[in-house]
Amino acid sequence: MPTGGSKQVRAARKRKKRMARVVNDLTDAQWNAIKAAWGGCAYCAAPSGSLQKDCVQALSRGGRYTLGNVVPACGSCNASKCNAEVTGWLRRKKLDERRFLVRHYEISSELTVLFVTPPADDATPVA
Ligand SMILES: [Zn+2]
Repeated sequence: MPTGGSKQVRAARKRKKRMARVVNDLTDAQWNAIKAAWGGCAYCAAPSGSLQKDCVQALSRGGRYTLGNVVPACGSCNASKCNAEVTGWLRRKKLDERRFLVRHYEISSELTVLFVTPPADDATPVA
């Protein structure tokens, strides 16, 4: 008698394998700083209390859990976006694509400066 759900089990196993391969170098301190910088859901600006890590570039598209690729998302945005390409999804949801991209750029550059210290004697002179 078929029990059902075996497909789900297989999918979960596949997902686990994929997760093991990716580089997930986001620390708790970085995640807290990302949440503080956005001050709510990165996509719809909802000041949700339970924000989830969302990869701007989905894992299935080569994205990683890294400082420049993770933003806080409310449950509904996270579930809705899933593996969609971010700009197309924002447009479909009638969310402000430009606002998101500009803020994402600003926040990730800011946090990169904060968390990634460049080697001191490798400074390139500004022409
Ligand atoms: Zn949202």
